[in-house]
Amino acid sequence: MQLTDLSFEQRLVSKLPGEAETAPRPRQVLGACYSRVLPTPVAAPTLLAWSEDCAALLGLSEVGDSGRVAEVLAGNRLLPGMAPFAACYGGHQFGNWAGQLGDGRAITLGESLGPDGVRYELQLKGAGLTPYSRSADGRAVLRSSVREFLCSEAMHHLGVPTTRALSLVTTGEPVLRDMFYDGNAAPEPGAVVCRVAPSFLRFGNLELPAARGDQELLVRLADFVQQSLFPETAGSGADAHRVWFGEVCRRTAVMVAHWMRVGFVHGVMNTDNMSLLGLTIDYGPYGWLEGFEPDWTPNTTDLPGRRYCYGNQPGVALWNLARLGQALGAVGVTDDDVQAGLEEYRRTYESTFGSMLADKLGLVTIDDESELIDGLFSLLQQVETDMTLFFRRLAQVPMDHDLTSSALHPLLPAYYSDNLPDAELLAWLERYRSRLQDQGVDEAQRRARMNAANPKYVLRNYLAQQAIDAATAGDAGPVNRLLAVLRQPYAEQPEHEDLAARRPEWARHKAGCSMLSCSS
Ligand code: AMP
Ligand code: MG
Repeated sequence: MQLTDLSFEQRLVSKLPGEAETAPRPRQVLGACYSRVLPTPVAAPTLLAWSEDCAALLGLSEVGDSGRVAEVLAGNRLLPGMAPFAACYGGHQFGNWAGQLGDGRAITLGESLGPDGVRYELQLKGAGLTPYSRSADGRAVLRSSVREFLCSEAMHHLGVPTTRALSLVTTGEPVLRDMFYDGNAAPEPGAVVCRVAPSFLRFGNLELPAARGDQELLVRLADFVQQSLFPETAGSGADAHRVWFGEVCRRTAVMVAHWMRVGFVHGVMNTDNMSLLGLTIDYGPYGWLEGFEPDWTPNTTDLPGRRYCYGNQPGVALWNLARLGQALGAVGVTDDDVQAGLEEYRRTYESTFGSMLADKLGLVTIDDESELIDGLFSLLQQVETDMTLFFRRLAQVPMDHDLTSSALHPLLPAYYSDNLPDAELLAWLERYRSRLQDQGVDEAQRRARMNAANPKYVLRNYLAQQAIDAATAGDAGPVNRLLAVLRQPYAEQPEHEDLAARRPEWARHKAGCSMLSCSS
């Protein structure tokens, strides 16, 4: 089956109120969950990359005519049954209520039933102006589109709940961006990513009618969320909203635990960027921990308070869930229900991350190992240590032999300086070894568990930037190579060893290679 054979429907549009006006004029949209708006056609759509794995979700076995496919996935041509819309939502940004935000450059084309029985929304990011574009242009640059496309798919293969990406299309149109916010805007190539998920609804979709006191809209939307996203709560009667809120809390905890496991930092955990399905959503100025620094944030806008740094993510998710819970007050979710949901979050986060940490170390349990874990985290921060390489290569340190300096050899590539904390490292490894012995873990078992929990390949910012530079010069090869390698992040791929290397020094301060601005 090909893209043009898909049939589309739109549950959200058929069940929830939208507004009558279809022009993309900026405005406050009241009493409606979305606006019907068409993508704005682009000059020269060209298909740069396509995810076969995401296509398979939709039952697509081949790309087909890439010219036609590019037209559809740039928004130039609609397929029968598509009913495009932009969603209306608000959100708390950096801790403050920001009012109406909405899909300012994302347009959902329609929903298609996959062979797995799941309905998937196809949404174009960068498809042109909507009523929610405010003073911006509704477009996305190639740079941020490559990053969203690759990271969505990489996260899926890492086992992290996420929205998916089907395609990356260049538009043939320039987009003006002030990348460094220094008054020097410059044209960059534009692109459109087609994102795929069972729903793109966010905490902010419910927060907005709640903040406006639009009880009727809130009830309709909450009922829709319950029925279409959490059908398993159907038998819960009057308790249904409380039950699905608890499920959002649980799923969010699992998602954030995965972020912490793989060293992913979202960078903009505003409540408009939090999925009701517990999926990682809205890849912007995200990053991957290289040196293990809990207060590292990839987002230059976040530098003053580091609200969204790696170590704050579990707490920020909890704060965001509290905002969602508050918004549900008007549909019968009480303060006690909210507290119970937040408790569910804490419990789930602790147990999920705890068992992930045990897997990362190849231990059966870390329940009574707080000293070992604290020691590890302080060791990782003592000198600049690459998180991904350290955990992956720890599996190669022989724990069934006497620990001498040569035992540290596998860990050398994880260190950004020549001054290894040898003595502390050996002392920690001794403790680790005795815990392994106490728990009866043998070497083969340990390595297998660790290699399934500690990825070898992650989308380091400098790797994404190299692929962006090539794509900008018209070469999609590096994007497609990363897409292929990141499909098996836990496998040894000897011919791609270069993609598992620690960040080179030239990338430490280069734009796009360490920190990012929001100018996407
Ligand atoms: P973000 O922080 O990227 O999730 O975006 C916050 C809000 O700004 C959302 O309402 C986006 O739709 C909107 N937005 C971001 N970039 C653009 C753009 N280039 N054109 C229109 N709206 C945008
Ligand atoms: Mg967003």
